[in-house]
Amino acid sequence: MLESKLIIFDCDGVLVDTEPLTNRVLAQCVSDAGWAVDAQYSIDHFKGRDLKDILADVEGHLGKKLPGMMDDYRERMYVEIHECGVPAIDGIHELLDGLDAMGVDGPHRCVGTNAPLKKATLTLTGSGLIDRFVHRDEPEKVTMFSAYGVGKWKPDPGLFLHAAESMGHLPVDCVVVEDSVSGVLAARNANMRVIGLATLTPADDLLKAGATQIIESYQELIAEF
Ligand SMILES: [Mg+2]
Repeated sequence: MLESKLIIFDCDGVLVDTEPLTNRVLAQCVSDAGWAVDAQYSIDHFKGRDLKDILADVEGHLGKKLPGMMDDYRERMYVEIHECGVPAIDGIHELLDGLDAMGVDGPHRCVGTNAPLKKATLTLTGSGLIDRFVHRDEPEKVTMFSAYGVGKWKPDPGLFLHAAESMGHLPVDCVVVEDSVSGVLAARNANMRVIGLATLTPADDLLKAGATQIIESYQELIAEF
C-alpha cells in the first residue's frame, strides 16, 4: 500500500460502518415488497452491488415490477442515517494519521463509491472523516467520486479509472481498498491492486474475486508504517 501513488478507498464498509444499517433497511424494504429476507441475507447477496441490479433480482424473484421500492429504500435509509448516525470503521483514523505523517512521500487518497454523493457526504461527515479527504496539494480538487457521477457502477472499472485519471495517476500506481466482491472485481478490471478488508464478506470470496492482499483489520496495515 505504502509504495502506491494513490489509494482509492471504497466508502461503505471501508471508511464508514454503514453496512449493518443499510442492509437492515434494504431487507425491510424487500420484505415489505413480499420477499421475506433478513439483514444477513442482504449482506450475503446484495452488499456492494448496483441498486438497479438488486431491484432486478427482487422483481425477478417476485415476478412483478416494483417502481417505488428503491426510492422508498433511499428515503428510509437517509432517515436512519440521520437519526442513528454511522461510526467510522475501526482503525481508519489511525491509518489516515499514519499516511498523513508520511507527508509528500506518502500516497494521495480519494474515495470511490457506488453510492450517491449525497449518501457518502452524509456518512463521512457524520463519522468525522470528510475533512480527511481534502487533497493534500490542491485543496480545491475533488477527491470523492460516485458511480452516479460517472454512470458506471462496480464491478465495471469505469469509476476507479475515472478517479485515478482525475487524481493524476496511472492504474498501475493505484491500490484500492474494498470490502465487497463487486468492488474487488472493479479494481481488478481496472488493472489495479486491491486490498480486501474481510469483515462482512469472507476472505475466500474476496480472494477468488482477485484481491491481492487480505486484511481483517486496519491494524495490519498500520503495522506496515
Ligand atoms: Mg463497500
